[in-house]
Amino acid sequence: MTFDYDDQNIFARILRGEIPNKTVYENDHALAFADIAPQAPVHVLIIPKGPYVSLDHFAGHARPEEQAGFFQAVAEVCRIAGVDDGFRAIANTRAHGVQDVPHFHLHILGGKRLGRMLPEVG
Ligand code: 5GP
Repeated sequence: MTFDYDDQNIFARILRGEIPNKTVYENDHALAFADIAPQAPVHVLIIPKGPYVSLDHFAGHARPEEQAGFFQAVAEVCRIAGVDDGFRAIANTRAHGVQDVPHFHLHILGGKRLGRMLPEVG
């Protein structure tokens, strides 16, 4: 599997400050901001600052400090958002995962009881 990063994607432009965002949290390795089209009362996107297209790209290739910084941001977002009653983390990936933006992002959704993750089969 090779990973080709397109630096014109919308989240790359947000990281470069070309497009505004509602920042929730930021550290040296990650940025968290409100989703522009929230699908739950809490809907935050957490992205690494490095050029990774997907969760498997990030998990396999990001340096340990990048991974630590990213997961520190996850913890801080959950604390700031106050999702003590629970939340869902989603990383849509490539075509089968219906990923729209080709820069790895983790959706944090919460603030209410969410429906089942996928339609029940059978
Ligand atoms: P995906 O389908 O790739 O997992 O999710 C992409 C997400 O990015 C969507 O939930 C969409 O609403 C969000 N999004 C797309 N463009 C922008 C933008 O310019 N700003 C923000 N804050 N979110 C965006």
